[in-house]
Amino acid sequence: MEPIHLFSPVFRIDETLDEIRDCLEKGWTGLGFKTLEFEEAWKRHTGFPNAHFLNSGTAGLHLALRLLKEDGGWADGDEIITTPLTFVATNHVILYEKFMPVFADVDESLCLDPRSVAERISPRTRAVCFVGLGGNIGRYREVLEVCRSRGIAFILDAAHMAGTWIGRAHVGTDADVAVFSFHAVKNLPTADAGMVCFRRLDLDREVRKWAWLGIDRDTYGRTLGDAGPYRWRYSVDHVGFKYHGNSVMAAIALVGLRHLERDNTIRRELAEWYDSEFKGDSRITLVHQPDHFLSSRHLYQVLVDDRDEVMVRMNRLGIFPGVHYADNTSFPMFQYGAGSCPRAQSAAARIISLPMHLRLTRTDVRRVAQALLDSLA
Ligand SMILES: *Cc1c(COP(=O)(O)O)cnc(C)c1O
Repeated sequence: MEPIHLFSPVFRIDETLDEIRDCLEKGWTGLGFKTLEFEEAWKRHTGFPNAHFLNSGTAGLHLALRLLKEDGGWADGDEIITTPLTFVATNHVILYEKFMPVFADVDESLCLDPRSVAERISPRTRAVCFVGLGGNIGRYREVLEVCRSRGIAFILDAAHMAGTWIGRAHVGTDADVAVFSFHAVKNLPTADAGMVCFRRLDLDREVRKWAWLGIDRDTYGRTLGDAGPYRWRYSVDHVGFKYHGNSVMAAIALVGLRHLERDNTIRRELAEWYDSEFKGDSRITLVHQPDHFLSSRHLYQVLVDDRDEVMVRMNRLGIFPGVHYADNTSFPMFQYGAGSCPRAQSAAARIISLPMHLRLTRTDVRRVAQALLDSLA
C-alpha cells in the first residue's frame, strides 16, 4: 500500500504558473509588484489593517520583537513569556534581540495557559508570545486580556493559523502584532515566506525599512512608481535586515489565498473524521478545541502513551506521523527552563500529529486511524 505522509502540500499548478508567468513577463521577481498585490489581497481577505510580506515567518517574529523593542524602549535582558511547545524559531528570535525567554505552561489545548502566564509576569516582562498550535486558539482571549491589564505586548505566532476565524474576525487582528508563515509545508504553502501584521500603521511603515536594510524607499516604487526625476536616490535611516519577500513567492501565495477557506474546510472535515474514529477510545486523548471558532487545522494532534514506540509501529504500516513539538526546555540551550512546565513536558512525550493534508481521502483517514489503534499497546 502507498505510504501516507504527515504533510503533502497541494499547489494549483496552472493557476500558480500563470501568476509566476506574470512576474517573468513583467521582468519583476523581487520586492514590490506581486508582494504588494498579495499584501492587499491578504488585508482584504483577513481584515488586518497592515501587512508586510517577508521571506519567512521567523523573520516576521524577529522584526516583531525588534520594532516593539525600539518603540517601547525595552532593554537587553527584559523578559518575553513564551511556550515550550513550539518550533524553536519562536524562541530563537527572543534571543536574537537579547531578551530572556521565560517559559510558561500550556493547558489542555496545548496553547499557553493564562494562569501560568500571569504567574510568570515580573517587572521585566515586556511581551507574551502566544502560539496557536495547529490552528488552535486555546485561551487566546484570556491571555490577551492578561497582557492588556498588565500593560504587556501581545505577539501572536500565527504560523499555523492562516484562515483561523473567531466569529467574523480573523485571529490576530486584535494582537499588537501577528506573524504568519507560508513555509513549504504550512497550510498556505509557498516555498518560504511569511507575513508580519502590526496593529499600528507607524510600525507597519517602519517594518518595511527594517526588512530592507533600513532603506527608506523600495526599488519598485522608485522604478515603476511616481518617483520623480531623482528616482535612483534613497536614504538609509538605520541598520536593517534582508528579510523582505519576493514576487515569485507572493505569486504562489496569491493562489493559495484564493483557495485557503475551501482548503481549511476540507482540513476541518478530515479532523472530524479522525475524531469520529477515536471517540470513546480511552487510550487516545483528543486535544481540546474551544467552541465557536474556525480552525485552520494545520495539524491534527492526539495524545497517546508510549508515543515513540507507537510511531515506529505506524511507520511499519506505512503511516508517517510527526511530533509538534519536543518540549523546548529539553534542548540544551533552554535547559534552564527544564521542569518549569510539567504539562508541556508530559504532553510533549505523548503528542503525535497524524497525517493532515488535502490529498487524504475518507479511506486514508480510516487507514491511519486503524494503524494508530493497532499500534497502541
Ligand atoms: C514554521 C513556524 C515558524 C517559522 O516560520 P518560517 O516561515 O519557517 O520561518 C514559527 N513558529 C511556528 C510555530 C512554526 O511552525
